[in-house]
Amino acid sequence: MRAILMYHSIDTSGSTVSCHPDAFDRHVRWLSSGRVEVTSIEGLLALPSSVDAVAITFDDGFVNFRDIAAPRLLANGLTSTVFVVSEQAGRTNAWDRREPDIPQQPLLDWPALARLREQGVMLGSHSRTHANLTTLSRARIEEELCGSVEIIERETGARPATFAYPYGRVNAQAAAVAERVFRYACTTEFRLLDAGARLARLPRLDAFYFQEPGLLESWGTRRFETFIRRRHRQRRL
Ligand SMILES: [Zn+2]
Repeated sequence: MRAILMYHSIDTSGSTVSCHPDAFDRHVRWLSSGRVEVTSIEGLLALPSSVDAVAITFDDGFVNFRDIAAPRLLANGLTSTVFVVSEQAGRTNAWDRREPDIPQQPLLDWPALARLREQGVMLGSHSRTHANLTTLSRARIEEELCGSVEIIERETGARPATFAYPYGRVNAQAAAVAERVFRYACTTEFRLLDAGARLARLPRLDAFYFQEPGLLESWGTRRFETFIRRRHRQRRL
């Protein structure tokens, strides 16, 4: 069984983009227990479905990734990918300002991102401005994706091969551009990775829903699979 885990912010606000630090600690303990292999998205796709494996991703590039998540992940040898909003590096998640539930928090700047990359964290693109790509023309989508690749490469030396759709929003046009610019693109569709997964529409499991103690740790059980199916249905409705 394989899955891509998605985190955003590690904080105590309880918002829909937040995972509590205590829950994150439990996740790290389990992820480093040897129960599952933790690898990159590319590594995950190269493994057969029968292997228990996880790729860890963080959207938006919050400063709390460096302060809370990265030290724990790196100390345990756990690979992760951070999806960076290139125009917002060193600023805040201002795109969420109309969501009263979501706290405005600082995002990592370029020196911090470059340093994390040196330490082994992989950098992906999360577009230039965190725009909902399904509302944009093809030319604007190209700008959002190609522009972010150029800036991330210029600022960190690493050319991103992976992408995460802002808000998880994707249509045929956005997927077609992402497919051309990147090797892999992640959605927020709540599913395990199956053999037929399309590289431009990889599903992910939002860690927000796994904060209850023991739930992520129930990986591989009937309870776990039932939970994922239910959650997937609820999100589609
Ligand atoms: Zn985002």
